[in-house]
Amino acid sequence: MRISILGSTGSVGQSTIKVLNAQDEGHDVVLLTAHSNYKLLAKQAIDLKAKNVVLVNEAFKDDLHNLLVGEDINILTGEGGLLEGAQIQTDWAMAAISGMAGLPSLMALIEQGNKVAIANKEPLVAAGRLVLEAARASGATLLPVDSEHNAIFQVFEKDNKEAIERIILTASGGPFREATIESLHNVSVKEALAHPNWSMGNKISIDSATMMNKALEIIEAYYLFGLPADKIDVVIHPQSVVHSMVEYVDGSVLAQMGASDMCTPIAYAFGYPKRVKSSGKKLDFKMLKRLDFDEVDLNKFPAISLAYDCIEAGEAACICFNAANEVAVSAFLDHKIAFLDIYKIVSWAVDSCKSAEFETLDDIISYDNNIRIQTESYIMSETSGIKATQ
Ligand code: NDP
Ligand code: MG
Repeated sequence: MRISILGSTGSVGQSTIKVLNAQDEGHDVVLLTAHSNYKLLAKQAIDLKAKNVVLVNEAFKDDLHNLLVGEDINILTGEGGLLEGAQIQTDWAMAAISGMAGLPSLMALIEQGNKVAIANKEPLVAAGRLVLEAARASGATLLPVDSEHNAIFQVFEKDNKEAIERIILTASGGPFREATIESLHNVSVKEALAHPNWSMGNKISIDSATMMNKALEIIEAYYLFGLPADKIDVVIHPQSVVHSMVEYVDGSVLAQMGASDMCTPIAYAFGYPKRVKSSGKKLDFKMLKRLDFDEVDLNKFPAISLAYDCIEAGEAACICFNAANEVAVSAFLDHKIAFLDIYKIVSWAVDSCKSAEFETLDDIISYDNNIRIQTESYIMSETSGIKATQ
């Protein structure tokens, strides 16, 4: 089987390689991609005998060439190189770039009509309708990797959809589940990055702390499972053992459980429709003791309500929500704004969002770019002036 891993140097990308290495059968790695981490990209490419690599940041092009001298590995660079790489024929691809930057390459993978595992949630939030339309047109199989959506996918009776009462996304509550709202004013970047259960990239870790991640996941689920927003619920589950659930009209609730290790959902997407080894952590029931569930505190985590408002308002609002959040998270990580400014910025962007029709991917990308520019200026003029500390 030919394999492509987009975002191979990231957290999900590295777990995907672990899953690949856990298989008895060998595979042809046709593509690995990174933004700037050329050292890890070169190492992965040599270890896996990859045929092609993409480095988006051209500043490190020569460094990558130097590390791959004498290897039979084709090097592509820049955003154009990423798109070209995603068009290389593959049977199974992992889309694990972070943010909207992954949208064009995700679409190119889908247009090939094969299996595409999607971790990269932001393109689904902003362009879910077009992504699904492209998959229908090409016949591609989309395999959700986000642990909640993967869990739902595992217990979702597609042929019995009318019997689904609701889906329930679990949320750990992140590092501030028990914090008071007042204490969130002075959160440092380090505190916000310290997720209690999962080890992930920086952007999604901050999203988990604000619960923007769960908000994005509500919209992601709305598109992936084609259910109305009132059939999508969220419940706090601090242990991250039950990864999500589907409730049926007869009262049965089917859940998928596992350790908090992305290797499991990745392996499910890799083997689908079979099950394969993951090399991930296994659940130890003796260590579990208890599973807790609780309501989300919507005063502390208003992002959740905003996600439902966005679904109701339509695509433009979802694009604004995602774009403003990406800009705000990056500003927070750069110590330019305070933690609570993130929600303030995102809700401003959603409130001031103008509705629009999107026929093509380019329509979405240019709308998204405009929102980013407007959000940058809003940050310069309107945020609290409190900057996050290290
Ligand atoms: P990371 O930040 O760890 O990795 C991101 C990957 O994308 C890296 O390979 C990075 O390259 C590359 N990349 C970053 N920016 C760009 C860009 N502008 N153009 C091209 N490539 C880029 O992210 P995660 O692995 O944590 O997350 C990836 C996606 O999966 C996100 O959408 C996230 O929401 C989703 N996800 C992640 C989970 C997790 O457990 N981490 C769980 C569920 C979903 P480089 O290393 O060179 O910077
Ligand atoms: Mg998730």
